[in-house]
Amino acid sequence: MIPFLDLKSINQQYQEELKEACARVIDSGWYIMGTELSAFEEEFASYCGTQYCIGVANGLDALTLTLRAWKELGRLQAGDEVIVPANTYIASVLAITENDLVPVLVEPDEHTFNLSASNILNALSSKTKAILPVHLYGQISPMDEIMGLAEEHDLLVLEDCAQSHGAEIKGRKCGSWGDAAGFSFYPGKNLGALGDAGAITTNDKELYDVLVALRNYGSHKKYENKFQGVNSRLDEIQAAMLRVKLKHLDNETEHRQHIAQLYLEGISNPKVTLPKLTMKEGHVWHLFVLRTSDRAALMEHLEKHGIQTLIHYPTPPHKQEAYRDLANLPLPLTEKIHEEVVSIPMDPTLSINDVKKVILALNKFKAK
Ligand SMILES: *Cc1c(COP(=O)(O)O)cnc(C)c1O
Repeated sequence: MIPFLDLKSINQQYQEELKEACARVIDSGWYIMGTELSAFEEEFASYCGTQYCIGVANGLDALTLTLRAWKELGRLQAGDEVIVPANTYIASVLAITENDLVPVLVEPDEHTFNLSASNILNALSSKTKAILPVHLYGQISPMDEIMGLAEEHDLLVLEDCAQSHGAEIKGRKCGSWGDAAGFSFYPGKNLGALGDAGAITTNDKELYDVLVALRNYGSHKKYENKFQGVNSRLDEIQAAMLRVKLKHLDNETEHRQHIAQLYLEGISNPKVTLPKLTMKEGHVWHLFVLRTSDRAALMEHLEKHGIQTLIHYPTPPHKQEAYRDLANLPLPLTEKIHEEVVSIPMDPTLSINDVKKVILALNKFKAK
């Protein structure tokens, strides 16, 4: 079986370094908010090209706490509208509603699966206060255009970089474009911890100060609580794991880009629509997502050839029971995308031989 993503083999490549880092934390006797976290925050900020990084417990908290911090700073208020792509993973929307803000679900660009400036423009109202672009499947959104639009309309921008570590446009990495950005280091993400972890990047010192407190009970100083905060800390073991994995991220990304290139050149089947690549450095290929009108048959065909596939995602947020109030929104493109997408193996340890097998099997597929 060619697995969709083999986390064991990914982490085995670095097992010596990971075990050493783990031992270093065990021996230090200090397990929360220590030197591993501050070193990782510095290294990740420098990787992204921002002044600050704040480690938190997961990617959802990174997004939720940033919006919460803007409320604490008086830059957002309950009831304000936040523009978000309708085809995102539900976490992007949960971060908005958790803060009593109003998600405005916008159809993506059909070819990139991301927000476009013109779709955002059409969704603006007098209540719009922020945009939450999601760099879906690893491809950066048109951040130059989005930031121009945000400036013109005085909107905050929170990038959802959970799938796009290292993707860049015009020489600037994701996470450094918006007023702030949320990252996830869930094990299956391009930069994955060995458990849950997340972070926020920003150049805004005021925002940084509020976030540092919010993640730790709202406290800047032990036993002094300025905000009604939460416990959302990135622990020392995970920070140490991430420091090891960050050193190898660009190498892994290069291999993902190579696999994607082979897929794009090799797959040619009229039944299959390939993803569109705007520019090479703009896509870090968290997922390689095809579209086909005959998905069930294609998945069955690939399974028979020993190839594992997954769907990202089977149901859009507005069709989830959790958001039944939004179920009647007219989002035909988003719904069509969810009916047609299928993700094929994408893993930095996938061999070129296996990539060729996937291509061959896809090219043999005939719809019924
Ligand atoms: C994974 C993901 C998140 C949430 O990250 P967690 O660490 O699982 O909380 C948010 N947004 C997107 C687009 C994601 O893919």
